[in-house]
Amino acid sequence: MSELLMIPGPVEFERAVLQAMATKTPSHISPDFIEVFGRSLERLREVFLTEEGQPFVVAGSGTLAMEMAAANLIEPGDRVLLVDTGYFSHRFASICERYGARVTRVGAKLGDLPSLEEVERSLRGAKYKLLLVTHVDTSTGVLVDVASLGGLARRYGALSVVDGVCATGGEEFRQEKWGIDICLTASQKALGVPPGLAILMVSPRALDLFRKRRTPVANYYADFANWLPVMEAYEARKASYFGTPPVNLIYALGESLEEIVSEGMEARFRRHRIISEAFKAAMTALGLKQVPALEVAAHTMSAIYYPEGVGKELLGEIRERSVVVAGGLHPRFKERYFRVGHMGGARGSHILATVGAIEGALQASGYRFELGAGLVAAQKVLKGL
Ligand code: PMP
Repeated sequence: MSELLMIPGPVEFERAVLQAMATKTPSHISPDFIEVFGRSLERLREVFLTEEGQPFVVAGSGTLAMEMAAANLIEPGDRVLLVDTGYFSHRFASICERYGARVTRVGAKLGDLPSLEEVERSLRGAKYKLLLVTHVDTSTGVLVDVASLGGLARRYGALSVVDGVCATGGEEFRQEKWGIDICLTASQKALGVPPGLAILMVSPRALDLFRKRRTPVANYYADFANWLPVMEAYEARKASYFGTPPVNLIYALGESLEEIVSEGMEARFRRHRIISEAFKAAMTALGLKQVPALEVAAHTMSAIYYPEGVGKELLGEIRERSVVVAGGLHPRFKERYFRVGHMGGARGSHILATVGAIEGALQASGYRFELGAGLVAAQKVLKGL
């Protein structure tokens, strides 16, 4: 029996996207592929809400996208300020340090984020080249205020880099209006495409900084100089080559981007907000606590503490009911919570199936609650869809 995949990526993919991926692989310089790749690059601007951004689509996972941002912008000795919200912030710090950055962290307690005042105090204290933020930290389910942080970075002359891996295509994000310099993501989450694509949107200011580097980019595969001519060529509907593109994945991307754009970004942000609220309302109705406070909680995923007396065996019970959710990830408390992804094409029926499976699993684990209370709470919110 097929299971419903409700982890924070990869997610459930639309049938049309999977079918697009199953096309016979044409040459990467065939006219049909050139058109699909070229149009996908144009569509990405619509998703990131920018007209001036330069998209990059490269074979690799989200970590490669992080690495590309760091490798191309950082020169040894550069100062980087990191808004530390969890596991993926730590990864970003390690990547930046590999390229010689001096990283300063401004953090908060688990499941929370530093205040804007704290970030501003740090920005005032030293001259930073980059401000790094994780839009949604997948380990804690914390959502940061990217608009305000982007504004702060501009005010203090730093470039802003947003890890949007668990957010882009689901959480509200307006790259140009918010003045974000690089937003990076991966295909397998809210963009609804199987894993394997690293995607970045780079502002003219960031490209300018890259062009003014004094030292060569220390990573050959990640070097913008190798990829920029390729992206420009495909967008001009010409072939070009640096590394063989993941042709079938780009067909899948093309299909998914058409679906995203036809839904419309505002409708998409709204759908993510509502299904997230429905799921979170259900968890509250069941008496379960969430890792982040609701004001700073993501809409693409939820992180929920196991109730008293229940542990990770709950995941197996949920799976018995044909729904797959994820365990904890943050090393400091991963035994104490589980995570549910609700992004990309996620809809009300997925939320209800997941809440139903969680209720059944909780009951089997001996937890006492009113059966159906979660479903009722979710249904009430889903009426707004
Ligand atoms: N950043 C965030 C916020 C993520 O959620 C992930 C993946 N879960 C990554 C970076 C790394 O992406 P990947 O696993 O595709 O390398």
